[in-house]
Amino acid sequence: MPQTHHHPDVERVLLDEQQIREKVSELGRRIAADYADEPPILVGVLKGAVMVMADLARTIDLDVEMDWMAVSSYGSGTKSSGVVRILKDLSADIDGRNVLIVEDIIDSGLTLKWLLSNLRSRGPKSVEVAALLRKPEAARVEIDVKYVGFDIPNEFVIGYGLDYAEAYRNLPYVGVLKRSVYED
Ligand code: 5GP
Repeated sequence: MPQTHHHPDVERVLLDEQQIREKVSELGRRIAADYADEPPILVGVLKGAVMVMADLARTIDLDVEMDWMAVSSYGSGTKSSGVVRILKDLSADIDGRNVLIVEDIIDSGLTLKWLLSNLRSRGPKSVEVAALLRKPEAARVEIDVKYVGFDIPNEFVIGYGLDYAEAYRNLPYVGVLKRSVYED
């Protein structure tokens, strides 16, 4: 069902449920084709990637494993601190495995750059990235992201897993947060 009403703190809906669903399925089909010989372990980055992980995994017609990491990079503000801390590590040993990191959004890229080098140091066979959203204008480091859902403008977005101060993650669409919510 298309979303007709949206949350009062949302400036505008950027991607509705149907757009997200279609794009996620498209990524899932590509991933299934690319990894047919040796399915990956999907590594979801908590908490933002919960929605995309759940939906993407169901569109990949292979026996994939799912694991999770939690890292902190933002606190409750809207700017990347550049400092990354592991709050929860993987359960699985990824030595010799194909790893596919599943991310909600790539902003500066600093979090992902850190995550890539951390996971690569564990001896995987390959590490690739699937991200639902990317903000090309905000990129501060060059990262090769194999599966990108949407390139979006450099605005603060919430919904479909993405929060502001832990709110809005359960919105079924991606929307731009009103500036008045986080500015005085
Ligand atoms: P980066 O290190 O690439 O700047 O930031 C990555 C993380 O910052 C994302 O995983 C996400 O948690 C958070 N982030 C970046 N941009 C946004 C945004 O527009 N909205 C929300 N809710 N989180 C964001």
